[in-house]
Amino acid sequence: MKACYPGTFDPITNGHLDIIQRASKMFDELDVFLMVNPRKLCVFNAEERRQMIEDSLASIGSPQNVKVVIGTGLTVDMARANDCGAIIRGIRAVSDYEYELQQATANMMLGHDIETIFLIAKPQYSFLSSSVVKEIAMYHGDILNLVPVQIIDRVNDKLSKDE
Ligand code: ADP
Repeated sequence: MKACYPGTFDPITNGHLDIIQRASKMFDELDVFLMVNPRKLCVFNAEERRQMIEDSLASIGSPQNVKVVIGTGLTVDMARANDCGAIIRGIRAVSDYEYELQQATANMMLGHDIETIFLIAKPQYSFLSSSVVKEIAMYHGDILNLVPVQIIDRVNDKLSKDE
């Protein structure tokens, strides 16, 4: 079965990458859906985010069954258009669960043929989010171990300019 992992990835973190690695082992193919939502203000544009995900895949051995797809609109429509039978989401805490449950239930109503599967964050990544990374980088903190090495300079460069 083919699955998708939708997200904003602004930027990708080691937590996201761990989910990608684990999901890529569970499914024949995994599409990482880089969702472009005009209502969400992002620090990195879609092309920058796509490039960072693609470069980061080297950290997990560049799995051949993973690809990045830029998308807009409803995740279930994207999943159907790309033949994905499952939507992967990560859960770090109960606070994630409430939001994710709502999304997954809506997706269940819109696409009853597509299952949402939750993967629990590894403990070392349970506090990690794109927002935390941006906050630390903005104040010149160390983001080593939070994002893949391939993107550290890009994140620091962008955020230090925004200060
Ligand atoms: P979205 O805007 O769709 O929530 P994100 O890029 O913030 O996009 O997250 C994509 C998915 O990855 C979400 O399901 C989120 O809960 C999950 N996720 C984010 N950070 C982590 C992490 N550190 N560990 C595991 N899952 C995570």
